[in-house]
Amino acid sequence: MIGKGNSKLRILLAEDDVITRRLLEAQLKKWGHEVVPCPDGQQAWDELNKDESPKLVILDWMMPIMDGLTVSKKIREVETRPYTYIILLTAKSRKEDIVEGLEAGADDYITKPFDPQELRVRIRAAIRIIQLQEDLLEALKTSEFRATHDSLTGLWNRYAILGILEKQLARSTRDGDEIAVIMTDVDHFKKVNDNYGHLAGDEVLRQTARKIKNSLRQYDEVGRYGGEEFLLVLPGCNSEAAVNIAERIRLEFEETPIVSSEGTFPVRLSFGVAITNGKDCAKTDNVVGLADEALYKAKEGGRNRVVFGGKLDPKT
Ligand code: GH3
Ligand code: MG
Ligand code: MG
Ligand code: MG
Repeated sequence: MIGKGNSKLRILLAEDDVITRRLLEAQLKKWGHEVVPCPDGQQAWDELNKDESPKLVILDWMMPIMDGLTVSKKIREVETRPYTYIILLTAKSRKEDIVEGLEAGADDYITKPFDPQELRVRIRAAIRIIQLQEDLLEALKTSEFRATHDSLTGLWNRYAILGILEKQLARSTRDGDEIAVIMTDVDHFKKVNDNYGHLAGDEVLRQTARKIKNSLRQYDEVGRYGGEEFLLVLPGCNSEAAVNIAERIRLEFEETPIVSSEGTFPVRLSFGVAITNGKDCAKTDNVVGLADEALYKAKEGGRNRVVFGGKLDPKT
């Protein structure tokens, strides 16, 4: 759509006959649509392969280089989303031709010479379908986001971060690259809730999440694993680098308190670090378990520290 809730569209118009193309273009523009005119099917196809290509296409059936039927078929072959609505423009009005056109993937057809009133209502129908599609995609995006993100912090949720780790492990089965897994947990977090209330606790968690995320490299991932526990997945990271990263984050927290609308809070974190690669570790549980054990040792050892749990033994 040119604008949401707006019934104006960018329309691709492929028609080799100059007169018909100009007439159609003028008509569509009169209704407020933006028109991308093409003199043949090949140019239409090239246009459709650009970013932000029009979602409504009007294709003449008979065109040089590539006809409208072929363009329709090609669109449907590659189409994932969003949907392209196709109106076939044709001088053919026999039932068999129409069936063939619709079978090639067109949604609708208009016979030439076109009748402006008919064209108008058919375009209105197309806009309804395109709008419906966009709403559906939007709803899908929202529900996908909710299914994979933690609502408090906006980080990946437990399910999603474990999925990311699983994918990284699978990838490293081939390249053998090391993957670091860091489990971190806020020290004495219960005291924040007890002393300042649950809302302050929530704010501290949000800010903690943000701070951890900001301190990572672009291709590192972090998720909220549990209440005040975060899981970091660092691909292509050896043990020394992983321990350094954990230590750097630990220090950042130690040196700067969290300043929020709810007040200023000193926050300390404990870390458990583990390393593996896909060849040695087939299951995410194993390496997460190793990081978790190391985290437990960090807590036992006095908190606000990093413990390296080692490299996962092959075949565990
Ligand atoms: P430790 O150093 O051993 O980790 O001590 P701790 O107090 O951090 O750990 P404990 O497991 O005793 O307490 C964790 C607390 O985190 C208890 C729970 O109520 C709180 N918590 C978990 N999720 C949330 C949340 O979403 N919001 C708030 N405000 N608190 C939460
Ligand atoms: Mg033609
Ligand atoms: Mg804790
Ligand atoms: Mg905890």
